[in-house]
Amino acid sequence: MISEKVQRIGASPTLKISAKAKAMKAEGIDVIDLSVGEPDFPTPENIKEAGIQAIRDNFTKYTESDGILALRKAIAKRLKEDYGVEYAPKQIIVSAGAKASLFHLVQALVDEGEEVIIPSPYWVTYPECVNLAKGRPVIVPTREEDGFLLSPDALKASISPATKAVILNNPSNPTGVAYTKDQLLGLAEVLKGEDVYMIADEIYASLVYDNFKFTSFASLGEDVRKKTILINGVSKSYSMTGWRIGFAAGPAEVIDGMSKIQSHTTSNACSIAQKASLEAYDGPQYDVRKMAAEFQRRRNYCLMRLATVPGLSCFKPQGAFYLFPNVRSFYDKEANGAKIRNSYGLAYYLLKEARVAIVPGDAFGNDDHIRLSYATSMTNLEKSMDRIVEALAKLKTAKKVQRVALANAVTRVQKPVPVETGMDVRMRDALAAEMESHLGYEGRYEWNARIGGAILQLRTNVAHLNDFWIEDFPPAPGEADVRPHGVITAVDGIAGREPRGFYHEATQTGVLVNTDLYASLRSLALGLAMDISMRSGGGASGAVRGMSADLDGRGLVLIGPRGTKKTELFFELLADRRFKLHSNDIVFVELAGGRAGAENVERKLYLPTTTVELDPRLAPLFDRSKCENVVARKDDCQDLECQRADDCRLDRGSLYCYKAAKEAHALLDPAWLGGPAASVRRTDLRWLVLLRNDATSPAVVELSKEEALRTLEAGESAGARKTLTGGKPQPFYNPHLLGAAPEKVEAQRAFFGRLLDVTRCLLFNSGVAGADRLKEIASSGR
Ligand code: PMP
Repeated sequence: MISEKVQRIGASPTLKISAKAKAMKAEGIDVIDLSVGEPDFPTPENIKEAGIQAIRDNFTKYTESDGILALRKAIAKRLKEDYGVEYAPKQIIVSAGAKASLFHLVQALVDEGEEVIIPSPYWVTYPECVNLAKGRPVIVPTREEDGFLLSPDALKASISPATKAVILNNPSNPTGVAYTKDQLLGLAEVLKGEDVYMIADEIYASLVYDNFKFTSFASLGEDVRKKTILINGVSKSYSMTGWRIGFAAGPAEVIDGMSKIQSHTTSNACSIAQKASLEAYDGPQYDVRKMAAEFQRRRNYCLMRLATVPGLSCFKPQGAFYLFPNVRSFYDKEANGAKIRNSYGLAYYLLKEARVAIVPGDAFGNDDHIRLSYATSMTNLEKSMDRIVEALAKLKTAKKVQRVALANAVTRVQKPVPVETGMDVRMRDALAAEMESHLGYEGRYEWNARIGGAILQLRTNVAHLNDFWIEDFPPAPGEADVRPHGVITAVDGIAGREPRGFYHEATQTGVLVNTDLYASLRSLALGLAMDISMRSGGGASGAVRGMSADLDGRGLVLIGPRGTKKTELFFELLADRRFKLHSNDIVFVELAGGRAGAENVERKLYLPTTTVELDPRLAPLFDRSKCENVVARKDDCQDLECQRADDCRLDRGSLYCYKAAKEAHALLDPAWLGGPAASVRRTDLRWLVLLRNDATSPAVVELSKEEALRTLEAGESAGARKTLTGGKPQPFYNPHLLGAAPEKVEAQRAFFGRLLDVTRCLLFNSGVAGADRLKEIASSGR
């Protein structure tokens, strides 16, 4: 498993879209790629020649890690000439692209939890760069009406004691806005006296239009310069993206820090490219001006064409080579049955319909826009503008606008938290007191639920937990006055405490700290209820963790670790209408009169939404259910397999995806799956089916009581590969069990012993047999 911080970040969307456009081109489709972030001009001849000469001179070895002195001197000279800022060579570090400089800089500056202010729309890399440093990106939206400028007031309001830096991209990718000197002075004034660095990404500085006078942030004064780090490079100005040369200039202390990091990452940037860049900075500059003039002409042309599109507006940029039109008015429109819901949907539509690749604004933090780059030939621009204008004109107001709004709670904690079971009474009391004091009375929810034979009280300040709790479990009879058997206190918002669960068995108290995920509450509650029922049941009560179905009053429960196709088999069984749904996770059992009466204790199915793939009926039902952690942004998608297939619902404009996250759940009413007759609350348990999945074992083996007990206790059936169980095997296959103290294991063994006296236990190999075999077993009474 890759690290959590990396799981959280998304790959560069611009690169992904370009790759898609390239793939379409390879199939012979005439796509025009307006998603690119690089000038389309060749690198000037004199610069290329300098690179070739470097090879001839065998300048092909490691250089100083920070870059060759001649280049750093040339950069210093250019900074002075062009922007009037003075740096000594030791205040400059040359990297493999401005991106590498930026990455090293953020690593050098930011400690875990420190904040970096990023105005949005932002260049996609900034927030991820901060995330990878374990910092916190603080996104400050700017408004189109204000020309996408960060105002001094907005900057001021976003500064906190944790602020470490601001990243200002001037001119900006994606909006093209450039700041005047006065506007920059306004920002500098706010930062005066604050211990906050300014990361000034000025990579587009030489691409400004209409005689705009570019001002470098570092030129605003000596005090400002001391807290500023300039980022720049040859990629955009000299059309040298592939050469990978960028630099940072700033306080020696910061550059030293970056230098240490770089010495362990890339070492020096490419020696040959450094020589070429030396020529770029030292040589004649007219190619830069020629390029800028050409970009201005193209910008004007595109703006003129877009101005004719009804419903579209576009900010006139002063720099860079992007347009960032507002396309909001096209959302909810449709063409050929395809509805546009957001910037991803529009991007997908334009790719398919107009054969033009652009980048959805959402990638830059503003979903009302798209970004198109005019760094391509005039011929391409003419063709693509024709196509875009035509495709947008085809979009008509949908006859029936159905804005699907999912009832989706996104929790801060996304994975079930560990539960500690070894507390003594003193700790329990201290913890209970701490929780109570945090909980207070305002915003406190309290509700008694019945889970099997137990009445459990939830006390919480998390509205979402209360909401799911009330939906999932039936209310206790006489809810108001009854005394609960057990209490769970779930408190969120306690500073300095890790998300964690606690359970004190003797007093039947559960505690959840800083955990807003329902899976954790549900699991703790089920564990607690199991304990209570086993205690009072004297060996005749217990619970079996598995998926159960009923055929004519007889129950069958599928038990098995992950990777044994439990869910697939279960849904296949249910597709046969003779089988009724009993429970999708756990059954509470009372043994009496030679029978195993099994109860489904939940009113709803807390169902992973990834099950949409197993039953086509589920997706529209989930649309109407309460959901938790369903993914609405591609960046949050965990399904790498699906991402590779490259046909993403979210790219096509869908508002959410049910299979993008393993931890997403819906709280589904079982009656919605075929009416009340298709599910039962109680059944007589007849078969325990232990699953394994391999290619060679026999399909079905009946186990003796002793064999069954051994397998259950080990929590691992022969042939089920350990890796598939997701780590350690769980005793009795039951992750809801709270702790594995010897008495507890003994009690489980006793319960299962009695259960196996009245049920049969089969070891079923899902690697060779399917649901038909299960149906046969259940119907033949075998
Ligand atoms: N900053 C911004 C704002 C950019 O748009 C880009 C390139 N897209 C870069 C930095 C990185 O440039 P380089 O090629 O030097 O890594």
